[in-house]
Amino acid sequence: MTSNGTAEMVRAENVHKSFGHVEVLKGVDLVVKPGEVCCVLGPSGSGKSTFLRCINHLEKINGGRIFVDGELVGYRERRGKLYEMKDREVAAQRRSIGMVFQRFNLFPHMTALENVMEAPIRVKRENRAATRDQALGLLERVGLGEKTGNYPAQLSGGQQQRVAIARALAMRPKLMLFDEPTSALDPELVGEVLDVMKDLARDGMTMVVVTHEIGFAREVGDSLVFMDGGVVVEQGNPRDVIGNPQHERTKAFLSKVL
Ligand code: ADP
Ligand code: MG
Repeated sequence: MTSNGTAEMVRAENVHKSFGHVEVLKGVDLVVKPGEVCCVLGPSGSGKSTFLRCINHLEKINGGRIFVDGELVGYRERRGKLYEMKDREVAAQRRSIGMVFQRFNLFPHMTALENVMEAPIRVKRENRAATRDQALGLLERVGLGEKTGNYPAQLSGGQQQRVAIARALAMRPKLMLFDEPTSALDPELVGEVLDVMKDLARDGMTMVVVTHEIGFAREVGDSLVFMDGGVVVEQGNPRDVIGNPQHERTKAFLSKVL
């Protein structure tokens, strides 16, 4: 159960998304329960990032519905009709969803600590001292207790990505979305970021993770979704899907990344 008392943290029903005449998502369904880690795999261009962005309404969907913690994303339903939310409502909704991208997008002119403190202070107008304590705790948690005063340029890619995770956590999200969080990292830095994500998962965070890290999906994932061409081709227990894929497209993809 979530804090709203819902049994599902994410529910996507028949999600369609087009850019101009190109349909990128062609009816995607997904359910992620509270505390679950759902890993999304698939070839480049299959619509993974677009789908993730739809979950927090960074992209508007053209069809279907998405619920986060029982709430319709981006729309209000009144008498069976859907009305688009005002920007303010969208922003409020988005605050409870953390997102971490492939590129770390930290503010270059702010220290690690200032980066983590920024959103709670600017968006939530929270108390500065309490926010600072929380941010220090989060940086400690991602293993950067010694680096709180460093600027992004003084941190490795793996450290920057861990700051980005701490920054997302500072808003106390109920859901975390990760879009290939380790793809831009040198191989030797991937592990430290995956370890932080593992720790989050162990702590009960609900996460949707687009990744090519099969080992992570197998070890940490509660479910695995394989997307190709804008549809979910196959989904299930990660060990089953990875060990015994049922569809040719899944087999072909796995044979390339394993
Ligand atoms: P993935 O993350 O699986 O690599 P994406 O969701 O990034 O796939 O992209 C899916 C398809 O949608 C690609 O063909 C991409 O070119 C297209 N696409 C993504 N975003 C846009 C956009 N803003 N405008 C037009 N086309 C887009
Ligand atoms: Mg992508």
